[in-house]
Amino acid sequence: VEILKTIEEAKSYINELKKQGSTIGLVPTMGYFHDGHLELMRCSIKKGHETIVSLFVNPAQFGPTEDFDNYPTDLQRDLGLAKRIGVKAIFMPTIKEIYPEGYTTYVEVEGLSKILCGENRPIHFRGVATIVLKLFNIIQPHEAFFGQKDGQQVIIIKKMIQDLNLDIFLEVVPTAREEDGLAMSSRNAYLSLTERQAAPILYQTLKLLEDMILKGERKTSILIDAGKENIIKEPLANLQYIDIRSADDLSGMEELKGKFIIAIAVKIGNTRLIDNIVLKI
Ligand code: AMP
Repeated sequence: VEILKTIEEAKSYINELKKQGSTIGLVPTMGYFHDGHLELMRCSIKKGHETIVSLFVNPAQFGPTEDFDNYPTDLQRDLGLAKRIGVKAIFMPTIKEIYPEGYTTYVEVEGLSKILCGENRPIHFRGVATIVLKLFNIIQPHEAFFGQKDGQQVIIIKKMIQDLNLDIFLEVVPTAREEDGLAMSSRNAYLSLTERQAAPILYQTLKLLEDMILKGERKTSILIDAGKENIIKEPLANLQYIDIRSADDLSGMEELKGKFIIAIAVKIGNTRLIDNIVLKI
């Protein structure tokens, strides 16, 4: 697997691939790979793309009190996994390469970036949209792969692609889960044993609401209250939000309609976990 460290290196490498007639699939990540990351890579490779994985812990998407400084890393392991799967190259720039001194330009997807996770993490999605647009411009992929795990992120990037007229297809890959339902996340590494035992509460709560919906419940306020009650039963879990919104544009709804997302964020100890499911009626 080729290691690309500078923007210039990445651009000329990609140009060469494109000259040979290859299509490019991009998988943006912050590293510390788990099966969710690997699924995105497999999906890109299966579609016949020369697959470029970016590995960059993006400071712009972390708030001042968040975990940027101790975000987990294991570069050797990541490189081995990517190679085994058949990834063509890893783009792993330094922070200075991406945000040189005097850097001042940021992308804000208004509205969508201030709700749900944006309420607890006010600059997060501006950092995400900025790095993703920069990666799109550097790699110029035909297709980019993102996980449903970060459902709001997917909706925001889709909106950015549409608003800024980008010619990039976005493929959304289903959430990879542990056997007990916990969505895979690099941040799961922070959990102590007892916290890890409490963590499946997110998915259990989503499944509880799905069950109520299957049995006919249509009022979002009733569903959200039932979700809150279920979270309270787990003493280690601190609810940040649980909400039900349109899966297209995150608009709110009183009665379930069309395709919707049930999204949840919980703090367990110092670790912030998120999960979601998308359903349709
Ligand atoms: P991250 O390294 O956490 O920024 O994630 C990089 C990409 O992997 C994003 O598109 C995430 O949505 C995706 N991802 C993270 N966790 C999962 C998961 N459990 N299942 C599927 N995709 C995931």
